[in-house]
Amino acid sequence: MPKLDLTITYDGYKEIGVDTIEDYNAEQQIGVSEIQGLTNFGQKVSGSTAYVRPTFTRLNYNLTLKAFVTKILTNQSTKTAYGVEFVKDRITYQATARKEVIISAGVINTPQLLMLSGIGPSNELAKHNIPVVANLPVGRMFRGNVFFSLFFSVNITAPFDTLEGAVNKFLKGQGVLTSFHNGVTVSFHNTKNNRSSIPNLSLIYYNSTTIAERIPSLTNYTPEVQKFVDKLNFSRLVFTQISLLHPQSIGNITLKSNNPSDFPNINLGIFDKDADIEILYEGIQKVKEIRNTKTIKMLNHSLIKYDFCDEYEYDSKDYWYCALKHLAKPGFQWAGSTKMGPIDDPYAVVDYKLRVHGIKKLRIVDLSAMPVTLSGNYNPSAFMIGEKAADMIKKEYGCVRKDCLS
Ligand SMILES: Cc1cc2nc3c(=O)[nH]c(=O)nc-3n(C[C@H](O)[C@H](O)[C@H](O)COP(=O)(O)OP(=O)(O)OC[C@H]3O[C@@H](n4cnc5c(N)ncnc54)[C@H](O)[C@@H]3O)c2cc1C
Repeated sequence: MPKLDLTITYDGYKEIGVDTIEDYNAEQQIGVSEIQGLTNFGQKVSGSTAYVRPTFTRLNYNLTLKAFVTKILTNQSTKTAYGVEFVKDRITYQATARKEVIISAGVINTPQLLMLSGIGPSNELAKHNIPVVANLPVGRMFRGNVFFSLFFSVNITAPFDTLEGAVNKFLKGQGVLTSFHNGVTVSFHNTKNNRSSIPNLSLIYYNSTTIAERIPSLTNYTPEVQKFVDKLNFSRLVFTQISLLHPQSIGNITLKSNNPSDFPNINLGIFDKDADIEILYEGIQKVKEIRNTKTIKMLNHSLIKYDFCDEYEYDSKDYWYCALKHLAKPGFQWAGSTKMGPIDDPYAVVDYKLRVHGIKKLRIVDLSAMPVTLSGNYNPSAFMIGEKAADMIKKEYGCVRKDCLS
């Protein structure tokens, strides 16, 4: 029995009129393509390996690792940020800034840190007895991808690793964890308008299941879904992941408590707007259309039935809505929790130069400032925001030399 591979998948897409494209980060995004990743000599590149580690030897740069920032320090009367408080090896320190404070704690933790420091919605801060420094809509425009997976059983057994097995192989430079992605293809579609160049969803075809699908703590399924997942034979499964790219639903990040070690509440508002579930339903129809092509049918993949939706007629719209409501989950790529916008924008927290409205010398440089959802992956935009901020900051302080911020 042949295995789902690049050629077979491309042929399947071709049958339904979807073009193969070489580079979905170039002019044309709609179509099917091989998956791209940020790698350098076969190793995955991150912000740390690309930007931070190469600067370790610079004399004008002081980096403290394994330090946890608990508060942004501000002068309440002048509304000026002057440093941060952080904990390292159980000792609390303060670091003060000569020029300005830059926060890059990401879409979840940047709003948490701001709120812990009194910068946030005053009603939210009042719940946790945090004195208000600036009343701003922090955490209020949190949006991002929503994932839904369709599982298929296959006749061939894929190599199956437990997490422990996968980690052991990784330590020897082998196995699934050494690959930057185990998807076969990614395709981008607009289910509402097939002439649009902007996709509303993407599909990734996987030849096996990912480690994440098998770890309950990562997926946070309800007990009935977990019971279903526990019964699956992962070595004989493949799946297609549908990703909703531009949800209309708006979520929020709020504080659980005023203790910095408590995770904040993360609510993506999944399916608050009916339009979102409908687009994922259309994505399911698209997957079925491709899976029903002559080429892909040859693989003999059969769709796994979600028994927790048995009360609905199989394959009816109600059945798929039930599956979506049980299995859809946040898709790792988020933005907007300290959104950029003019002061009169009810959701804006930072201005066009990433400066926090109403607080001097405080900038946010990460994806929480990004005001929109993206049609592609988010990590390159995080790098882009960092690059742009560096340029703006150097210009603002009149820097011409590389090391002039020392
Ligand atoms: C499982 C997963 C898979 C992903 N896959 C992809 C992909 O394939 N392609 C893609 O483009 N994107 C992917 N993303 C998304 C991408 O990683 C993010 O969009 C991107 O990293 C966001 O960058 P950021 O700088 O805004 O925040 P982050 O990368 O989250 O950086 C924030 C940093 O701040 C630190 N921090 C937080 N709070 C504190 C504190 N209080 N004190 C000190 N430090 C703190 C964190 O440890 C972290 O290092 C994935 C995300 C996840 C979770």
